[in-house]
Amino acid sequence: YKAPPVAHYNLNNVTITSNPLEARENILLLTPMARFYQGYWDNLLKLSYPHELITLGFILPKTKEGNMATTELQRQIAKTQKSGPEKDRFKSIIILRQDFEPPIQSQDEAERHKMQNQKKRRAAMAKARNSLLFTTLGPATSWVLWLDADVIETPPTLIQDLASHDKPVIAPNCFQRFYNEEKKAMDERPYDFNNWQDSEAAQDLAKKMGPDDILLEGYRELPTYRALMAYMHKPDGLRAETVPLDGVGGAALLVKADVHRDGAMFPPFSFYHLIETEGFAKMAKRLGWQPFGLPNYKVYHYNE
Ligand code: GDP
Ligand code: MN
Repeated sequence: YKAPPVAHYNLNNVTITSNPLEARENILLLTPMARFYQGYWDNLLKLSYPHELITLGFILPKTKEGNMATTELQRQIAKTQKSGPEKDRFKSIIILRQDFEPPIQSQDEAERHKMQNQKKRRAAMAKARNSLLFTTLGPATSWVLWLDADVIETPPTLIQDLASHDKPVIAPNCFQRFYNEEKKAMDERPYDFNNWQDSEAAQDLAKKMGPDDILLEGYRELPTYRALMAYMHKPDGLRAETVPLDGVGGAALLVKADVHRDGAMFPPFSFYHLIETEGFAKMAKRLGWQPFGLPNYKVYHYNE
C-alpha cells in the first residue's frame, strides 16, 4: 500500500463572493427530511444555479416514515442523476440516516408539557442538523444553503439572489399558500416565526429563567414581543430590502461556509436561552457574523 499524496486546500483560495456564479463557488445544500415532498424535489431541479456546483446532503430519521422518504428520495435521485437531462444532475449527493431516536410527539399533553416536547424536538432537530453539517462540509464549500424538505416553492434564482447581499447569514421570508374561505380564493400567510429581532421583554423573560430553560416563539405564556420578520412583509416592498435579525429559522437559510467553519452550529441545549436555529443565529453573532433577513423575498412552505 502506497500512501496517497497529501491533499492541500488553501482556504484563502475558496472565495465567498456576492456573485458565486461568476466565481464558480461550490454550494452545499442541506436538508433534514422526515417526509419526501415531490414539490421540494421539483423545485430543487428548477434552481438555475449550475447543478454541477451543488452538492446535496440529506439526513432522515430511522422511522417507518423516514424509511419511506429515503426510498422515494433515492428513486428521484436515480432518475435525476442517471436518466434525466445532464444539466439537472448535481455534483454529488450524500444521504445520512439518523442514529438516534426522534422524540415522541404528543399533542394532548398540558401546555407546559407541550413546551417541554418542543424543547426535546428542537434539540433532536439541532443534533440532526449538526450531524448533517459536520459530515458534509468540505474544504471547497463556499456557501451552505439550508432548505427544509417541506419548502416547495422558491424563485429559481434563490442561491444567486440570497448570495448577492453578501451577508454571513441570510433568511428569506417563509410563507404558506392556503385557500381563503372568506375570499373564496387562494391566499397566503406567514409561516416561519423563528426569524425575529430581539426585544427587551424577551430579554427580561430570559433573565428570570433557569440555565437550561429556553425561550420559544409563539407561546402565550412566553410573551416575547419580539419583532417577527413574518409580519414585516410589505406587498409593495422592495424584494432586496434587508433587516438585521437576532433569531433565524432553518426553512431556508443561506450561510457563508466560514460562519460554520468558525464553529457556529445548532446548539441542542440552551444557549443564551435559545436553541437550534435561533441559537445558531446567536452563536454566529457572538462570532462576529451578523444575520440578516429579507422580509419581502418569499419562499413557500407546504400546506398539509
Ligand atoms: P416546522 O415546519 O418548523 O414545524 O418543522 P418541521 O417538522 O417541518 O421540520 C423541519 C425540517 O426537518 C423538515 O424538513 C422536516 O422534514 C425535517 N424533520 C422533522 N423531524 C425530523 C427528524 O426527526 N429527523 C430529521 N432528520 N429530519 C426531521
Ligand atoms: Mn416544516
